[in-house]
Amino acid sequence: MPFINGKEMLEHALQSGYGVGAFSAHNAETIQAILEAAEEEQSPIMIQVGQKVIQSIGLEPMMVLIESFAKDYSIPIAIHLDHSRQFQQTMQAIQLGFQSVMFDGSALSFEENVSTTKKVVEIARSLGIGSEGEIGKIGGTEDDITVDEKDAFITTTEEAAAFVEATGVDYLAVSIGTAHGIYKQTPNLRFERLQKISEAVERPIVLHGGSDVPDDQVKKAISLGVAKINVDTELRQAFTRGIQEIFNENKEDFVLANSLGNGKRQMKEKVQEKIRVFGSQEKAQVLLSAKKVMTL
Ligand SMILES: [Zn+2]
Repeated sequence: MPFINGKEMLEHALQSGYGVGAFSAHNAETIQAILEAAEEEQSPIMIQVGQKVIQSIGLEPMMVLIESFAKDYSIPIAIHLDHSRQFQQTMQAIQLGFQSVMFDGSALSFEENVSTTKKVVEIARSLGIGSEGEIGKIGGTEDDITVDEKDAFITTTEEAAAFVEATGVDYLAVSIGTAHGIYKQTPNLRFERLQKISEAVERPIVLHGGSDVPDDQVKKAISLGVAKINVDTELRQAFTRGIQEIFNENKEDFVLANSLGNGKRQMKEKVQEKIRVFGSQEKAQVLLSAKKVMTL
């Protein structure tokens, strides 16, 4: 189970022109769906632990669960803490051995966001853990927090550059027209802004709200500097529909292995589809050997 620092993984992706899928896990079967898909595609992946699953299962149990499944796989994996809004929780993930953490201070003032993110970056870096920060507000609903479309705003090049300069963060989540959750209309990414930000900050850019963004837009975003794409909603839909399918056939089927198993199969297919759009298939060994060269 080659666990890899999120920074190394995303820098390799950026240099090689592909994107890494950061897929959210919610239980044992969703972890398996992500791992099985990535192994079949021979793709590096990030498995995200988000705030909802921390509330329902807990941070440490999720970490232990992911690790216990991951030990049977050969692909490079980074376990990532998604949208932590508490410094303490971010520290806990670092102590538990996550390979990547996100402190999301986008709801704070610029100064407060900088000061906490900077602390996280310094501690994570000293332990070989990658760090993600966010600047600009991404619209939509995630983990019960809703950002109204009128309050979501597009990240400016100047604030992105100033934030990276002040914090030294390894990769940056920006708001360039995507939203969390289900889209009311097809999103239109702001490519010109993305390109400017990417050139200014010279590090991997993270695209949140990656579900249902048209494939050609995702591919273009990757070509302009996006190296991590977060996908959750579409995977939950696939998993839930897989379960529903079983109950539609027989609502008295109480064998959970049947319903959850079908959810897992459908989600796995969706993860594979995303991996191919992101171009990370067959990149597992390339990344692992590049890492060997780097560490020699
Ligand atoms: Zn997000």
